[in-house]
Amino acid sequence: MSDVLDTLILGSGPAGYTAAIYAARANLAPVLLAGPQPGGQLTITNDVENYPGFPKGIMGPEMMEMFKEQAARFGTDVREELGTEVDLGQRPFTIKTASGETFRSKTLIISTGASAIYLGLPNETRLQGRGVSACATCDGFFFKNKTVYVVGGGDSACEEATFLTKYATKVYMVVRKTTMRASKIMQQRALDNPKVEILWEQNVTDVFGENKVEALELTHSTTGEKQRVEADGLFLAIGHKPNTEMFQGVLDMDDTGYIQTIPGKTATNVEGVFAAGDCQDSYYRQAVTAAGTGCMAAIEVERYLEGQH
Ligand code: NDP
Repeated sequence: MSDVLDTLILGSGPAGYTAAIYAARANLAPVLLAGPQPGGQLTITNDVENYPGFPKGIMGPEMMEMFKEQAARFGTDVREELGTEVDLGQRPFTIKTASGETFRSKTLIISTGASAIYLGLPNETRLQGRGVSACATCDGFFFKNKTVYVVGGGDSACEEATFLTKYATKVYMVVRKTTMRASKIMQQRALDNPKVEILWEQNVTDVFGENKVEALELTHSTTGEKQRVEADGLFLAIGHKPNTEMFQGVLDMDDTGYIQTIPGKTATNVEGVFAAGDCQDSYYRQAVTAAGTGCMAAIEVERYLEGQH
């Protein structure tokens, strides 16, 4: 493509689509590259109950379809494409895609989100998709009448554990401390469920099975005592890491890879590059805050471009 875009958006979660809605309505004709997981993390979640405007809740995938529709309605060019290479060293910026297309753009909005973290055990990697999963919504169906373990003590772990009780006979939550980080309401929901049992101060330290998960090794956090337990599934819900590898060494980041923006803004250390959503937010990580920063990024892009004239 030879034309130079006003703005290109990387990522299609709430931040990316909100940026697109605002940028499109400002006549910036944005191109949005949807990335490896179109719709982002909400497409692998269940009911979204805390997004304002949906008093009865809404399913994550449905909500993201609505975001997409709204962005497209105002003229966003949504591409089911993966941005693979970005050159921010010259202007306009160039963005290459997996299919070989090259875009040139005056500004860039990075809303690449975050991805699930795994424990990093060799057997966990080997058995991924064969009993090991980081997405109950995607894979829960395969665990009808089975015994599954969920690692983590945050809202995700509680949500996944509760969801898995729809299928599994028994769901164990493996929590490494004596307390859970999850909000009280989510904890209560899991604790009240007769199929859920919490294993406090435990860690999954190995996964066994030839072609599918058959058992796990649990290790006690303080005593170090190990035990082998039979299991059909292992679900990880231990947090996420930002998808920012592409920008390492170019954009300022914190120790864990979250892009650093100017306080109160989405502007990064490279002029014309803005970051919104979970790729720059390790603290709130909510759909609504991601959408908020997506809006901010588009407004900042608009003002930046005005200042260029
Ligand atoms: P969190 O970072 O909140 O929680 C991660 C959990 O995993 C913690 O309990 C942590 O334990 C545990 N953990 C981390 N590393 C390991 C490890 N190596 N071994 C064992 N346990 C580990 O992540 P979540 O994904 O749960 O939530 C992220 C954000 O999304 C939060 O802000 C949450 O509120 C929000 N959210 C909201 C939902 C809703 O309201 N419907 C649903 C899901 C998420 P420790 O506490 O010991 O560090």
